[in-house]
Amino acid sequence: MSGQPARSWDALQAAAGLPRLDARALLEHVSGRPREWLVAHGDEPAIAPVAEQFDALAARRRAGEPLAYLTGYREFFGRRFTVNRHVLVPRPETEGLVEAALKHLPARQIAAQAPGSRAAVDIAAPLRVLDLGTGSGIIAITLALARSDLCLTATDASAQALVCAQANAERLSAPPIDWYQGDWWAALPPGTPRFDMVVSNPPYLADDDPHLDDPALRHEPTGALACGPQGLEAIEQIVAPILAHLLPGGWLLLEHGFKQGLDVRDRLTQAGLSEVVTLADLQGLDRISLGRRPCIPVWPEPVPV
Ligand code: GLN
Repeated sequence: MSGQPARSWDALQAAAGLPRLDARALLEHVSGRPREWLVAHGDEPAIAPVAEQFDALAARRRAGEPLAYLTGYREFFGRRFTVNRHVLVPRPETEGLVEAALKHLPARQIAAQAPGSRAAVDIAAPLRVLDLGTGSGIIAITLALARSDLCLTATDASAQALVCAQANAERLSAPPIDWYQGDWWAALPPGTPRFDMVVSNPPYLADDDPHLDDPALRHEPTGALACGPQGLEAIEQIVAPILAHLLPGGWLLLEHGFKQGLDVRDRLTQAGLSEVVTLADLQGLDRISLGRRPCIPVWPEPVPV
């Protein structure tokens, strides 16, 4: 027993030294109670072990640890994804990447509803979509759940990230996804068929980017954030052989730093993609670039190297 008088939920929140929303989220987490309950019962005492757990988490939050690592989850596209220190915390910018991916996928081809049948059925072969560097799996899982006519493959260099992603897929009842561990294209087994779309939110900071020391980023896996002296190295590895991995008419969509739009568009064009554009995020900053493999088939087909 600590001997201290029991503290109320409101008192814990007031003494946390945190923005109100952060303190609330931690209180919801330690109490297992929804926000409405905490508002209605704020003057009731919290039992000591729960109050102590709150104090410990509040101290970690004050030191900059992302809220998502403290509660163990983050919402993405309206779903709750489990996260841990092996994966990047999902960002709202990446929701823009998923929205752009959904917009650029060919329309679903469904047969008209047959008389007497309950539902229209997909008639085309599934569209093959690849998420390179899936982390917690947010992109692959959200796409797989958005359209039943997609066949998802997802890779990551980190085995622990893949464990996290697969657990998310299972918990969210996503359709089957093919998971592979390895660096970018090397993760895919030889002979993997081409894709209709490749999506990636790769690391795009330079190794010496001072932002890596920010309290906000310090706790996230460096390998998910930074990738070399320029910050463009991962993007270059993804883009250079892209023609060999896309079907004619297929799209590549990449998230990148807000100052990298021009460089990424250059790489996409040099690699042979057309319809290259950069899209802005909610703050109006360059954030996503995309390009398309021209629809005309070429012969011989580019081969993966
Ligand atoms: N694809 C994951 C995400 O968007 C992980 C990205 C990464 O680790 N760079 O959050």
